[in-house]
Order: sequence, then structure tokens, then C-alpha cells
Amino acid sequence: LELPTADGPLMRTYTLSSSPSRPFSIAVTVKAQAGSIGTRWMFDNLKPGAHVKAYGPVGDFSLHSHPAAKYLFISAGSGVTPMMSMLRWLNDCAPWT
Ligand SMILES: Cc1cc2nc3c(=O)[nH]c(=O)nc-3n(C[C@H](O)[C@H](O)[C@H](O)COP(=O)(O)OP(=O)(O)OC[C@H]3O[C@@H](n4cnc5c(N)ncnc54)[C@H](O)[C@@H]3O)c2cc1C
Repeated sequence: LELPTADGPLMRTYTLSSSPSRPFSIAVTVKAQAGSIGTRWMFDNLKPGAHVKAYGPVGDFSLHSHPAAKYLFISAGSGVTPMMSMLRWLNDCAPWT
């Protein structure tokens, strides 16, 4: 995302935590650490109806790249975000049960 802060645009990368099975909106799940500039700007400034520029998506950490009968997800911190997307997709589509 390109965040238009008062000091100029800041680029920050976030995982899409939403699922392609719910295609009419996309979501990111963010956590601001102490001292955060970019992510903190989102909490302080984004309101319903606001617009920010987005680039991508990029990356290939996807269930489609790792088909399996069962999954074990282990994550920490913001590492949970891709798994939120995967779990939502599994919940909606349950393709391997
Ligand atoms: C592939 C990928 C996916 C990601 N997905 C997510 C996601 O889904 N959700 C999420 O929340 N984040 C995600 N991130 C992390 C995100 O992109 C940001 O890096 C993160 O939010 C920190 O940015 P910030 O603007 O909050 O902090 P920044 O302002 O960039 O600061 C980062 C840290 O550095 C410290 N710092 C800043 N300036 C200085 C300085 N001059 N000296 C010493 N320390 C300093 C700050 O205290 C802060 O803790 C992802 C990153 C990658 C690469």
C-alpha cells in the first residue's frame, strides 16, 4: 500500500488476509508496533470511504501451491495473516474433505 503521510508517501507491504472465495472486497490485517510510522498512520487516518493506492498482489504462498489432504498451520505475529486467508478459503470451499 502507498500511504500518503504528511511527510510523503510511504510504501508498506501487507498480506491479503481475505479469501478469493469472497471476491467483492479485499482485507488486510495490520498491527502497529511501538514506534510504527506507516502502519500507525493507517490507524490514525483511515476512515470509511478513504482511498489508498495498492500495488500487486505479489507472492505465491498459497494453498494452491501446496495441495494436501490435511494442513497444520503454525504462525506468530503478523505471520497469521496468510493463514487467515487460507482458513477462510478452506471454510468456504472445503475442497479436500
Ligand atoms: C511479505 C510481507 C507481508 C507482511 N504482511 C503484514 C501483515 O499482514 N500485517 C502487518 O501488520 N504487517 C505486515 N508486514 C509488515 C509491514 O509491511 C510493515 O513492515 C510493518 O507494519 C512495520 O511498518 P510500520 O510502518 O508500522 O513501522 P516502521 O515505521 O517502518 O518501523 C518499523 C519498526 O522500526 C522501528 N524504527 C523505525 N524507525 C527507526 C529508526 N530510525 N531507528 C530505530 N528503529 C526504528 C519502529 O520502532 C518500528 O518498530 C508484512 C511485511 C512483508 C514483507
